[in-house]
Formats: sequence, structure tokens, C-alpha cells
Amino acid sequence: MEIYRVKPGSRVDLDTCDTRDTSGFDGDKSEGKKELKKLTARLEELQELLYAEGKQKLLIILQAMDTGGKDGVIRHVFDGVNPQGVKVANFKVPTAEELSHDYLWRVHKQTPGRGEIVIFNRSHYEDVLVVRVHNLVPPEVWQRRYDHINAFEQLLAEEGTTILKFFLHISKDEQRERLESRRDEPHKQWKFNVGDLKERKLWGDYTAAYEDALSKTSTEWAPWYVVPADRKWYRNLVIGTTLVETLERFDMRYPPAAENLDEVVVE
Ligand code: ADP
Repeated sequence: MEIYRVKPGSRVDLDTCDTRDTSGFDGDKSEGKKELKKLTARLEELQELLYAEGKQKLLIILQAMDTGGKDGVIRHVFDGVNPQGVKVANFKVPTAEELSHDYLWRVHKQTPGRGEIVIFNRSHYEDVLVVRVHNLVPPEVWQRRYDHINAFEQLLAEEGTTILKFFLHISKDEQRERLESRRDEPHKQWKFNVGDLKERKLWGDYTAAYEDALSKTSTEWAPWYVVPADRKWYRNLVIGTTLVETLERFDMRYPPAAENLDEVVVE
């Protein structure tokens, strides 16, 4: 899955990243789904170990255009993990209190502690995406944020947090289909937001903003992965595989028992 990692210093051109690619897996959709089952079972074990050991901190950042599948990833890839020790942090339009602080204030508070996995459903990247596209602050303000973000993520990494960032890359046609099915299918209508249609008109501006963010903030300590996301099963597989491989590298151990258990009698 390393083919999807953005090399630090390289320039991302999203048009050349195929949203329907499945070349990292040697199999079809039904085999992919079986593989995901194995991965989620392994993820469950690894998360339990992470929690028990209580040393490592893992931060997962999910960003995407509307309908890109952030919620689907959270549902399918983390299916079965123990909710103790895994937290989802959602970042919405900032409140008045949040806006009265710097833009990383609300973010830093949500980062993982030892033994925890935190998933950011949107993140501080909104502050160089929606904020840029809608001119919510002047260009000189958002332009300097890439440096802040790199420094912030470096601080987290140096203090022991492993960071993985996933951009779920869908095509504009795929977004149309997903919006239409939200409009037409009763059990999906609750997700339909007319505001998404306005954002869709700004597809080109968002693409440019994403390309800059991905190019300027993929670092050794906090890499971006551009995940082909038109096919949901493949998207889940890419993320599941990357997570499992990352957690395997932690080389974790269950902590030893506090007492000499040979002498303990349970009456
Ligand atoms: P989602 O689309 O992630 O399921 P919502 O429909 O509640 O969740 O959308 C959250 C909204 O908050 C998005 O439109 C997003 O662009 C916006 N948002 C998040 N962070 C910021 C920010 N820092 N400034 C302005 N808008 C933001």
C-alpha cells in the first residue's frame, strides 16, 4: 500500500491518481471483503494489545470531499474494536469559543493519550481547505498554516504519537452517484445535505486546495496516503492494511502481571 503514500516534497496531481485503482490487491471484490474480515479481526487484537500495553498513541486523520466515505471507513475498518481505547473526534464548523482561540486549540485537546487510537473525522486540515475555498481568512493567514501544521504534527510525533493521514479520493462522477442515491433512497435521505451541492460546484477549488495540502504536509513523521476510494471495498482494504502493518511494527507486548501469580489462590 506504500504506492499510495505521498513522498515528502513531491507534488500531488490528483487527476493522475486513479480513483478506481485496485492494483494493490490481487483479487476481486468478494475476495477483498474476505481479506478485510481478516484484517479487522487482526486490528481488534492489535488494538487490545495497544490498550493493554498503554505505551503507544495512534492518530488517524481522515479527509475527503463530501460523500468520500469517512463514515464508511470508521464503520467498516473499525468494526469490532473495543470502544474503550478508540475515540472518534469530529470537527465541525468551529464554535464561537473555538474561533476565539487559534485553530489548533480544539485539535490538540483531542489527540490520543497512551494506549489510545483517535480517528479524526475531518481535522485541522479544514483550516487550509474549506477556510481557503470560502475565503474565511485572508490568503496570508492560511498560507502560513502549512508550516504550523507540520510543526504541530512533528511535536506530536516526537512526543510519541504515530500519525497516519488518509485522503479518500473519489471522482466527481462517483460523488454525483452517491449524492443521487442519498436523494433517492429513503434510508440514506437523512444524510442528504443541500449544502453539499454548493460545495460540489467548488470541486476545482477544493481539488487545488487538497493538492497543496497533500503536497506541503506529507512528511516522514506524518505521511499522507491518497486512497483510491470509488470502490468502497478497496478503500477499506487499503486503510485496513496500512493500519495493521503500522500496528505490527510497534512490536507490542502484554505487560507482565503485577503479582507472582503462581502463589495466588482464587477461593
Ligand atoms: P461531515 O460532512 O464530515 O459528515 P458535517 O456535515 O457536520 O459532517 O460537516 C461538517 C462541516 O464543518 C463541513 O462542511 C466542514 O467543512 C465544516 N468545518 C469543519 N472544520 C471547519 C473549519 N475549521 N472552518 C469552517 N468550517 C469547518
